[in-house]
Parts: sequence; C-alpha cells; structure tokens
Amino acid sequence: MSAKKIEGDGVTKKPYKAESKKLMDMLIHSVYTNKEIFLRELISNGSDALDKLYYKTLDDPEKTFNREDYYMELEVDRKRRTLTLRDTGLGMNQEDLEDQLGTLAKSGSLAFKEDQDQAQDIIGQFGIGFYSAFLVADKVQVLSKKYGEDQAYLWESEGPEGYSIVEAEKEGHGTAITLYLKEDKDEETYGEFLEDYRLEDLVKRYSNYIRYPIKMEVTRRRALDQEGEEPGYETYQEVQVLNSMVPIWQKNKQELKEEDYRQFYRDQHYGFEDPLDWIHINVEGLISYRAILYIPGVKPFDYQTKAYEKGLQLYSKGVLIMDRCEKLLPDALSFIRGVVDSEDLSLNISREILQEDRQLAHISKNIENKVLSHLKKIMDKDRAKYETFYNNFGESLKLSIYESYGAHKDKVQDLLLFYSARQGGLVSLAQYLEAMGEDQDKIYYQGGESLDHLAKMPQRAYYDQKGWDILFLTHPMDEFVLKIMGDYQGKAFQSISQEEEGQEDPEKPDLLKKIGALLDGRVVAVRWSDRLGDNPVSLVARGDISLEMERILTREGQLGLKAQKVLEINRNHPVHDKLEALKDQEEDLRAYSQILYDQAALIEGLPLEDPVAYAKTIWKFMK
Ligand code: ADP
Ligand code: MG
Repeated sequence: MSAKKIEGDGVTKKPYKAESKKLMDMLIHSVYTNKEIFLRELISNGSDALDKLYYKTLDDPEKTFNREDYYMELEVDRKRRTLTLRDTGLGMNQEDLEDQLGTLAKSGSLAFKEDQDQAQDIIGQFGIGFYSAFLVADKVQVLSKKYGEDQAYLWESEGPEGYSIVEAEKEGHGTAITLYLKEDKDEETYGEFLEDYRLEDLVKRYSNYIRYPIKMEVTRRRALDQEGEEPGYETYQEVQVLNSMVPIWQKNKQELKEEDYRQFYRDQHYGFEDPLDWIHINVEGLISYRAILYIPGVKPFDYQTKAYEKGLQLYSKGVLIMDRCEKLLPDALSFIRGVVDSEDLSLNISREILQEDRQLAHISKNIENKVLSHLKKIMDKDRAKYETFYNNFGESLKLSIYESYGAHKDKVQDLLLFYSARQGGLVSLAQYLEAMGEDQDKIYYQGGESLDHLAKMPQRAYYDQKGWDILFLTHPMDEFVLKIMGDYQGKAFQSISQEEEGQEDPEKPDLLKKIGALLDGRVVAVRWSDRLGDNPVSLVARGDISLEMERILTREGQLGLKAQKVLEINRNHPVHDKLEALKDQEEDLRAYSQILYDQAALIEGLPLEDPVAYAKTIWKFMK
C-alpha cells in the first residue's frame, strides 16, 4: 500500500481527546466478559454508514439506487489473525476520521462515565460503539474512502496512546475495519473470532435484523457422489448472507400467518410449548416502537422464583441491545415474553442515560395498557383460553395489587377470577355483582386450604339458605388482596368467618360468660348463633386478622399474629341443651367447652394448641 504521511515526520501518533482515553483505558482493562459485542457495534456502524449513503443518494438525481451495491462483508485471515468488516457505505475522509474516531464523548456524557459500575452497565446495554474493537484487538485499522471523493485514508491505532492517519488507496467508497486480534491467553480466547461458526452465530444473535446483507465466505462440507463406496466428503467455499434482514415484527400483520408467530416464539427460545396468544404492536407517536408480545402457553418451571428473569428483548434499528430488558415490563406482566424495537432509542453512548430510562418507562407504560386490555378482550371472547392464562399467571395480577398497596386495583380488578361456590367455577367480580340478590350488599368470601374443605364449612349454611354466593379463596394471597382492595364497585368484601360489624350481642347470659372464662383467653367472646344449620359450633374472627390469615401466617412462621376469635354455638343444636345442663358442673363444662373450641378450630384448618390434651379430654367421655 502506498501511503503518504500526513503528520510531519514518520507516522506521528496523535493523542486521543482526554475523555476518550479515559474510557478506553477503562474498557480495555475492565474484566468485561461480554467482549463479543464488538461485532454488533461495528456492524451497526456499517449499517448506519449505508443508511447515510442511501439518504444522500435520494437527493442526488445522478445516482440510481442499486440494492446490490449496499452490503457488508466479513473476511477472516487466519494467518495474519485478522478479522475485517467492509461496508459500502458513505465512508469517511480525513476530517471525519479525525472527528468521529478521535473523540468518543461528543456530548455531556462524561459525568456518568466517572462511575465505573454505571459505565460497565452502559457498555453492556448500549455498547460503546467503535471503541469496542479494542476489546478483542490490540491494533485496529480503518481504511476508508468517502463517497464522491478520490482520496482514501488509513486510520490506525494500537490503543489509548493515540492514532495516526495516512493517505492510502482503496477501491470504491466505504470503509474496511481490520482488527488484529489479541493473542489467546488462558481463558481469554480471541482466536474464536476467526471461526466461521462463531461469526455466523454472533451475526444471527445480535445483528440478524440489520437491513443490509452481511456476507461471508464460509466453508461447507458436502458428501461426494461415489457409488458403492464409503461416503466421502469434500469441503467447498461459498459466500453466504448471514443475517435474515427483515424482522418479523417489521412486517405487517396481514402478511403473517399464525405459524410465523409460533415459529418466531420457538426460534427466540421464549418457551418450549406454543404460546397461548400474542399481540403485534405498532405504535407511532412520541416514541415509536414495534413489538410482538407473547403470553406463554405454560408456566415456566422457575416462574416466581428468584431464578426467573423477566424482561423483553430490546432492539434498536434491528440491533439487539439487551436480551432481557426488565424496565420494559411492569411486575404484573413478568410472564410476557417477546421483543420491542424502537428506532427512537439510540445506540449512542453519548446520550444521557436518564433519557433512555424515560423512554423505556414510556414504552413500558404503553405495553402495560395494551396487554391489560388485550387480556380483557380474551376474557370476554374466549373464556377457556383466559382461564388457562389465569391459572398460569393470575397470581402475578393479584401480586401487583398487593405489592402496590392497592394502587393497581383499578387496572387489574376486572381481570381477576375467583371460584364461585354457587357456579362451581371461576367468576369475575363483575359476574358476582350481576348475580347478587337485592337483599345482599356485600361480596362474601371464605378462605381455606382447598375447595373440598371450603365446601363443607359450617358457616356456609346460612348464606346458602339466603341464596348468597360465596367466593372460595384457596390461594394464600387471595384474602390479603381482597383486604387491600377493600371493595369492588362500592361493594365491600366480607369474609363469612369474620364477624360483621354490629353483630356483637350486648347483653351476655351467664352461661356464655362462664364458657368464655373456661377457655382461658383463647376467645374474645362466646355467643349463640342461629346461622349454623346442623353444626354445633363455629369460629369467627373479629377485627383485621381473619382465621385464614392466621392459618397462612402461622404456616409461614409468623407465630405472633393471631386472629381474635369468637366462638359461636348453635342455639338450635342438642349441644346447647347439654351445655345448659352442665352450667353448674365446672369441670365437665370446661371439658365440653374446650372440646367444642378445638373442634371449631380444626374445622377452620387451624392447628390444635395441645393435641394430647384434646385427645385425653375426649377419651374421658368415652369411658
Ligand atoms: P455512534 O455509532 O454511536 O455514533 P461509534 O463509536 O460507534 O458511535 O462511531 C463513531 C462515529 O464514527 C460514527 O458516528 C460514524 O460517524 C463514524 N463511523 C464509525 N464506523 C463507521 C463506518 N463503518 N463508516 C462510516 N462512519 C463510521
Ligand atoms: Mg455505533
């Protein structure tokens, strides 16, 4: 290559601007694991340069647009240990090389780079552009010729010390970037970036949807046509386009078949089974984006464990920026898998990180609204499908109400389903309200271990006879969620094993007082009841903590939180007469009272305080 020196004597190195050097030092010396992103960065620059040329030719009547002239090309030289990426884009002249590659931070981005961790994070998420070449190379050459100009230039640098620019020769416009890969050292392998399969894989992973072809000559193997003999193989070279170019989310819905969406779901490894449903979004506005969002068909085995990572794939102009961008999804929708592509997000490190955050938050809000209203649509149109979804992921919706202290109530309450005792299946709260009798003004529920158990609860009798439906809650979170919601459309939630306000009877007969005293502080009150059907006793709770909550909290090891219990005794049951008869025989009355209390607790699923004492008391009567 004949090169004319531009800078004084020999090839004088120019120093980088101070802030570039600082970042470069940090980059090169950081134990940065994801060094493979350099390729994505260089390809993204190549693609930008092709875009720029394309826009330029739009205004140029002389130039006709030939699609075949716009491409990138990867070339490997194993002997020299170099990897070259060529593009036929706009190219750079001396001034451009000076300005664009000599300075890294163009706007006020230095401040946030001071913080190492944060800078690492930015490198990881948005890339640091051209300089990432130094993650894998100890020398980088940029040979470039600008479109419409005659002189080519060679920019060269071996790291933070500086760079040089000399005149050079190059056929045609565009840029060729050559990386002299670092030597392999222990676990640090750089030779891998000379392997076909590795490069193919990287292009597919990070740059699959770049709109220009990325070509590479690859070595393939094929079977020889030999009759009767052992099959032989030969290798041959072939130029391949490594990227698929048009991402499915950029296509129109009308062009796509259901199978295309399912295929994409599998290709991206969102899940093993088919998705239950999906939404294809194209938003144009303040921040434009396209997205395909999937509701998985099955619940991931690690869902709602610490191991599960929520998030969407984030692309900008066809370049993968992040594989699991958490900020795009509110917690209530952790189960959603899919992809977001927004041209409005910049790959440029010199953008303020805060602005990116605001953009992501904006998209996230938008996604939330779309998904929630889509779920409502499924609920109304395809109830079976919705129930499949709800059984898998309904918990996340409830959790979002609970964890937001009710702030998400309005958004989510119409998507909730609970088991209706009367319907024998799941109903929404709106359905419950519709079926409510005129004399009923509360939404009744009962929490318990299982539907079977709940169906046999003695408290049910009264509500059944009134014709009032009861929601059976079997998920530990359910009752906490209803408590936080307080009401639905102005109708309060009321547990049927919770004392209703104004239910306390003022004047207590002596017998009830006695029984209360004999129960040694286990109950706050004892009273007669006419609501128990043919059951002798039942426990209800007074105040904020219900029996079901006590049961769950005890199971979770929170032993201090106990419900205030009221023992109800059926006035119409023979047991009532027996108690009256024992009024003045304290020992027997104590035994009876304790047995009745323990039985009421057992029915509620609460553990016995002293199982041995309980058994002994019963044996006493069996003699
Ligand atoms: P960014 O792409 O975010 O601007 P980079 O560090 O990746 O930052 O690139 C810096 C600049 O160098 C680009 O903005 C562009 O002007 C120039 N550049 C880099 N690679 C090329 C290329 N292949 N062709 C033309 N210009 C390029
Ligand atoms: Mg770039």
